[in-house]
Amino acid sequence: MALTPDQQVRITNMLRMKLTEPCPLCLTKNWQFGENLVMLQTLPSPPRHRPTVLTTLATGGPLSPRPGPSYPTLPVMCQNCGNTVLLNVYKLGLADLWQGQIPASPKGS
Ligand SMILES: [Zn+2]
Repeated sequence: MALTPDQQVRITNMLRMKLTEPCPLCLTKNWQFGENLVMLQTLPSPPRHRPTVLTTLATGGPLSPRPGPSYPTLPVMCQNCGNTVLLNVYKLGLADLWQGQIPASPKGS
């Protein structure tokens, strides 16, 4: 998704407040964010009952377990060594920039 210049400024200002240290690997301070979020997909919760042959053999479709929650994160990369940190966009207060692509308000926050 292409961000407007105003939106990019908003992200840059937020990162300037939150990301105050240099890269822990190379000690260079040159962070740059990517506009495409990275979704961290968790595994499904373990089933409450013993899995049957049908559920253990299923890889998709209605019998497969529902995936766990996913965390939308903003990738921020060190421009010297490539170390990449993933910052949760809800914690950053920036989730509304990706409205329509991710839920507006996550459960339990
Ligand atoms: Zn680095």
